[in-house]
Amino acid sequence: MAKKQFKAESKRLLDLMINSIYTHQEIFLRELISNASDAIDKLAYLALTDQKVGMNREDFAIDIRVDKKLGLLTVSDNGIGMSQEEMEQNLGTIAKSGSYQFKKELDKDQTDVDIIGQFGVGFYSAFMVADTVTVLSRKYGEDEAHMWQSSGTDGYTVTPCEKTTVGTDVILKLKADTDDEKYSRFLEQFELQNLVKKYSDYIRYPIRMEMEKSRRKPTPEGEEEDKDKAPEYETYTEIETLNSMVPVWQKPKKDVTDEEYERFYRDKFYDFEKPLAHIAISVEGAVTYKALLYIPAKAPYDFYTKDFKKGLQLYSSGVMIMDRCEDLIPDHFRFVRGVVDTADLSLNISREMLQHNRQLTIISNNLEKKIKAELLEMQKDRRKDYETFFAAFGRQIKFGIASDYGMHKDLLQDLLLFYSAKEKKQITLKEYVDAMPEAQKHIYYAAGESVGRLEQLPQYQRLSDKGFDVLFMTEDVDEFIPRTLMTYAEKDFRNLATDDLDLSSDEEKKAAEAAAAEWKDGLEFLKTSLDGRIVRAEVSPDLGSHPVCLIPEGGMSFEMEKYFQRVNPEMAMKVDKVLQINPEHPVLKKLRTLITEDPDQAKRYAQILYAQALILADLPIEDASAYTDLICGMMA
Ligand code: ADP
Repeated sequence: MAKKQFKAESKRLLDLMINSIYTHQEIFLRELISNASDAIDKLAYLALTDQKVGMNREDFAIDIRVDKKLGLLTVSDNGIGMSQEEMEQNLGTIAKSGSYQFKKELDKDQTDVDIIGQFGVGFYSAFMVADTVTVLSRKYGEDEAHMWQSSGTDGYTVTPCEKTTVGTDVILKLKADTDDEKYSRFLEQFELQNLVKKYSDYIRYPIRMEMEKSRRKPTPEGEEEDKDKAPEYETYTEIETLNSMVPVWQKPKKDVTDEEYERFYRDKFYDFEKPLAHIAISVEGAVTYKALLYIPAKAPYDFYTKDFKKGLQLYSSGVMIMDRCEDLIPDHFRFVRGVVDTADLSLNISREMLQHNRQLTIISNNLEKKIKAELLEMQKDRRKDYETFFAAFGRQIKFGIASDYGMHKDLLQDLLLFYSAKEKKQITLKEYVDAMPEAQKHIYYAAGESVGRLEQLPQYQRLSDKGFDVLFMTEDVDEFIPRTLMTYAEKDFRNLATDDLDLSSDEEKKAAEAAAAEWKDGLEFLKTSLDGRIVRAEVSPDLGSHPVCLIPEGGMSFEMEKYFQRVNPEMAMKVDKVLQINPEHPVLKKLRTLITEDPDQAKRYAQILYAQALILADLPIEDASAYTDLICGMMA
């Protein structure tokens, strides 16, 4: 019979598995058991909602069998099984979670084979220890069974076969022992028992194996026990359950090590990286539940796309009801992974009915508080970790604040970090306000593409001379934050580029008014010379040592203009520009004389000053060659 070929990417992974001189070969067993458990989950769930299945929770089990003579190791389950088509789909390609993730990681760093041990690589890991892998499976509801078989990269076959029970047997023909590798150890009961304990203890179905044991021979009936005779022993076999079946989240916190919590996370959520924090929760009350939550260190590659699905795994009395229950986690914390287990949900509830269920709402509100508390604690005690967190998910927190008309701002505002111009690091709003000098009345911020750019702002120099800190916002969503919050700790936000900075004393204000009056014709001249490019010119006392500056008018900032230009070019609007001048600057003084003495030259001055204001505002110069001509003309 013609062999079918593996898909290209699968073939690559398979190659790697077969040829790996891999020290963690033993994880293959965990992978097979985990697949078996998933398959049982599916049928157990079906059994809850469909009487016809006729199975109870106690009926499910995973069996491990060995045949030492033939070198066979079998992992069997009575789960949902696979149809012929599913076998081809699932075992012929890597499209599935574990293996696929693995491949992604692999692309980044081809040489680091050791990552295999860090998280699930799925079914293919069987080829690390087996020459031939045979899968017999009968799907629930079907009469026919099928056999999938492969000896590695040259392909696989699928043929009909006999199987009386529903479920799947995965049969490994172990590789022959070599000088370096003893594959036959996977036939030894103690080795297998240890591996199950080590990796699969929490699996919620019994993992059973026939164990050879020894006991003292009973004294035959009617005979007296002979005290002097050495006791005689006999061997017998007994089916034993190897795992404790208590999932990590059901165990009391004190009984679980951090390492165990981490391992569970990696196995369950296929994350190569260690989580930043775990939160083990046990609640008794209006709703009784246990939860185990994790805060990842890195955003999944699809996190900021619409493909990403948030949600926690939901169990009810040991049966998994839903893989990603969205109602358990609010959007702003959608990066949180974990499980929730409650007996308070009716067991034969349908997935649809779970939506907007009252108990789930209570749990979700509760979890939200716990997550926030955990994050604040990390912010306080483990700032480096918090910065890692914020680098990965800060954007999500910001979206959370800006969305729903600021409904969640009180919950989320203390989680924010912004770059402090003074401290040269990320700080919280609270830290900013606490450090404000008495004379400072507002929270100052500036938005732009980079810190380097923002440091050039004339207004920043003025503030920094006064000893006031400025928050530099360099991410596109940032500017929505002050607009949504409006105030923090009763201090309002002032945008360096657009708002009155409230820095001038009454005298200074008077002087500015006087200067404005003097400059009235000059300002008009500037506007006409610039030919519609500005809506107005005005005198500003806030420019420090700079001659000019551009500010937007009408509420939108230049950064927002750029943002909308990027995300939605058709709808983008032009922001009106106001040219501010510093009347004290020598160039402006010169300009004033030129306006009467040499209007043509004054016009050129106006154009150059405008171009410089564009540069400072990080805006493109509209006609660069005209600008250089202008400069060169004056230099020549
Ligand atoms: P993953 O478990 O990460 O999805 P695997 O490569 O381990 O990836 O398995 C691929 C798919 O094959 C599974 O998603 C499942 O659909 C199917 N499968 C594997 N083992 C079994 C099993 N024992 N019973 C039913 N289906 C299985």
